[in-house]
Amino acid sequence: METLYHSTRSAQQAVPSKTAILTGIAPDGGLYVSDQIGAVKLDLATVCSNDYHANARLVLGTLLPDYTADEIRTCVQGAYGSQWDTNAITPTTPLGNDWLLELYHGPTSAFKDVALQMLPRLMSVARHTAGEGHNVMILTATSGDTGKAALDGFSDVEGTGVTVFYPDGKVSDIQRLQMVTQRGSNVAVCGIRGNFDDAQTEVKRIFADKDVAARLLTKNTVLSSANSINVGRLVPQVTYYCDAYAQLVRAGAISVGDAVDFCVPTGNFGDVLAGYYAKLIGLPVGKLIVASNANNVLTDFITTGTYDRRRPFHKTISPSMDILVSSNLERLLYYLADGDCELVASYMANLAEQGSYTVSETILSKLNKTFACGFADDDATRSTIQSTWEDLGILIDTHTAVAKAVLDARPQEEGRQRICLSTASPYKFSADVLEALGANTDGLDGFACMDELERITGTHAPVQLSGLRSAVERHTSVCDRDQMTTFVEDACARVFA
Ligand SMILES: *Cc1c(COP(=O)(O)O)cnc(C)c1O
Repeated sequence: METLYHSTRSAQQAVPSKTAILTGIAPDGGLYVSDQIGAVKLDLATVCSNDYHANARLVLGTLLPDYTADEIRTCVQGAYGSQWDTNAITPTTPLGNDWLLELYHGPTSAFKDVALQMLPRLMSVARHTAGEGHNVMILTATSGDTGKAALDGFSDVEGTGVTVFYPDGKVSDIQRLQMVTQRGSNVAVCGIRGNFDDAQTEVKRIFADKDVAARLLTKNTVLSSANSINVGRLVPQVTYYCDAYAQLVRAGAISVGDAVDFCVPTGNFGDVLAGYYAKLIGLPVGKLIVASNANNVLTDFITTGTYDRRRPFHKTISPSMDILVSSNLERLLYYLADGDCELVASYMANLAEQGSYTVSETILSKLNKTFACGFADDDATRSTIQSTWEDLGILIDTHTAVAKAVLDARPQEEGRQRICLSTASPYKFSADVLEALGANTDGLDGFACMDELERITGTHAPVQLSGLRSAVERHTSVCDRDQMTTFVEDACARVFA
């Protein structure tokens, strides 16, 4: 059976997953979804005996069936190879009475690697299938983590290039170095004078600029996005839910068929939605616990059924979760509304026009069957980092700590195992983690914080972070917002010369 994807806002114009992956967002602004997800269920016994690679092939084959088995095999091998520091790729380790799903063992030390090592490969294959010789330039504005993960994923992938804009002076020392030291003949990085929103707004404008598109097309180039709304980013994340389940079975913690809860530090709702997809295709997922920081718009939504983005924006120590509009939630609404595109479109119109919407009682009660929620402010996050270190000897980053705090606040159901997703290495956020442990960070730069964190905990920074100390800075451009278009077109000309 063919699995077709169409917009959350209209079921017309269904396309194969390869097209959905190349396009990113549906033409009407909706997100690509498929009605056939769940028609084929995973065989749990197989999942539980599979290693990570085999589970990745199984999940991708199930959700992206227009890719051939050979194509998927090659993509999986390339995406989950020696750039990871463990063969397990995403190991699940004990965390007191719960479990920690470690998603940060990839090349940029954040969970986005799981998807962004895979997406370029899926795009590359899709380009070949389409038979179009178009070069694809990925264009991204980043507040820190996504930019580096995209650079690393797309670096030297044939037929693609990647251009990243970051707000100059507004990312951490380490985050900037991660980006400006990026190797590869198809990458471009530029700081912009302004904040993240300026960069983001201008990137969106460039995407919509028909003149830019026309000029690039004469040079056989199209722009695309590596944003987390891309199906090709969502699907690879389903794998680690299945694989974590398999690891618990093999550890003797559960029997095949037992339900497991997952607690997920959430921003754009991509990660936790992948858990819902895992459930749809047959994984025994109990509760999906949506953990937020002080930007707790999702906590309110899951509690009341009203999504209201008209609220103050808080800058927190878990910056990758500082989001007021969680884009991927639109996909969940589609499934909870039983595929009622008109209803989803009306909610999204309300969100755009009034800044809020309220879902029906039916949708809210379905939502609450699977989803639970909670939030932790910066103080709770810090004290959780400290207690997790002191009580369990486990060092966690600020985002993971939000989830752990939320999990700790919930009573554990008898006999139910719970998995806390860990989305970044603590060394990516050395200064905040160090402060949480009670150390004084005054006057310390990123590397000094890293050294001090190693010293007081006896743990080690990932080499790809500590090695930045001696890496060459290759990308020194900084520009104004009105120069970004030129930078992009120059990058296309250079990369696809
Ligand atoms: C992106 C990110 C998140 C949030 O993930 P979503 O898929 O956007 O919900 C959480 N933690 C870290 C470290 C991240 O980089």
